[in-house]
Amino acid sequence: MDRIPYSCQTIEEEDIAAVAAVLRSPFLTQGPEIARFEQAIADMHDAPHAVAVCNATAALHIACLALDLGPGDRLWTSPISFAASANCGLYCGATVDFVDIDPKTRNMSVDALANKLEAAEEAGTLPKIVVPVDFTGLPCDMAAMRKLADRYGFALIQDASHAVGASLDGKPVGRYADIAIFSFHPVKIVTTGEGGVAVTANAELAQKMALLRSHGITRDPEIMENPSEGGWYYEQILLGFNYRMTDLQAALGLSQLQRLPSMWQKRDERTRRYDDRLADLPLHLPARASDRQSAHHLYVIEIDETRSSLTRRELFDALTSADIGANVHYIPIHLQPHYRRLGFTPGDFPAAEAYYRRAVTIPLFPRMTDEEQDRVIDCLKSALS
Ligand SMILES: *Cc1c(COP(=O)(O)O)cnc(C)c1O
Repeated sequence: MDRIPYSCQTIEEEDIAAVAAVLRSPFLTQGPEIARFEQAIADMHDAPHAVAVCNATAALHIACLALDLGPGDRLWTSPISFAASANCGLYCGATVDFVDIDPKTRNMSVDALANKLEAAEEAGTLPKIVVPVDFTGLPCDMAAMRKLADRYGFALIQDASHAVGASLDGKPVGRYADIAIFSFHPVKIVTTGEGGVAVTANAELAQKMALLRSHGITRDPEIMENPSEGGWYYEQILLGFNYRMTDLQAALGLSQLQRLPSMWQKRDERTRRYDDRLADLPLHLPARASDRQSAHHLYVIEIDETRSSLTRRELFDALTSADIGANVHYIPIHLQPHYRRLGFTPGDFPAAEAYYRRAVTIPLFPRMTDEEQDRVIDCLKSALS
């Protein structure tokens, strides 16, 4: 029997043809595919601006810089995320802190955020940026977070790395955030190999991110500080990076986006089948909410400790020894050695830590077959009975 991965990209012949066409064109990078990809992402999110970069980590970094995050400032995010959601704050010299999760959705808890903001206002330690994460593709409660952002004066960077194609109140994710970030790593919803994009309604933020992506250099006379000295002339007007996406990646992304609806359909079918067939096991299954549609990036089960004495480790090992690619998303960021050295300790975020003790990610990807899924379900049944 073949090993079933926990996640897997879907590459079709049309993807290969799209990339090959760029290889035969004059531009491998800084060509027309980037603008086309950005336009497609912007259209998809009803947003005027999208800035494509080499990965979502870079997108988070330039989003923080565009919002002027620096030393002395604070950035808060969810402890149940990939490290990049927090690291972007450290890159800018800011102080990073976390807001505990809602055990039902596993997303940042709005109540915990409201309480922490109230205390921070009192202490004069309000954050400049809050980074909610649409964990597993389930959108956060962004309308409530927007209200808090307006009341306390912080910016929202929505880490929607898992949420390409997700919606809230029938509208694409991202619209309540100052900047929304998406990832196109191969394990995510659609891929560009490596890639990320920052989406915003704010023209000034978009322009600043576009500069930061490419060394802070411009050829646009409108924003140069001095008169042009000739056709060769450009200016570096701030300190940026080389965070560019290539045209090869953008062409792959454009091709993949064509199939986003059909790939979502397949993820949704698999998710419903898991919901149905795992319902009687001693597990907490992913939350569904009528006002939002998950992208179904990951399917995370949690052992119900009141009904099963099986440990997470035992369940994980049962899956992996049956050649089933289990995973754990995520080890709480504040428990990583780098963050412990900054002063975080076990007990700081109890809901996140309790979630981590029980959580296992089981395989979910568009090409998963009934047979593969049944193997996962049967393995869970025998381990948990
Ligand atoms: C994958 C991921 C990132 C980083 O994405 P890259 O494109 O790999 O840099 C950031 N945040 C979350 C929540 C992610 O899952």
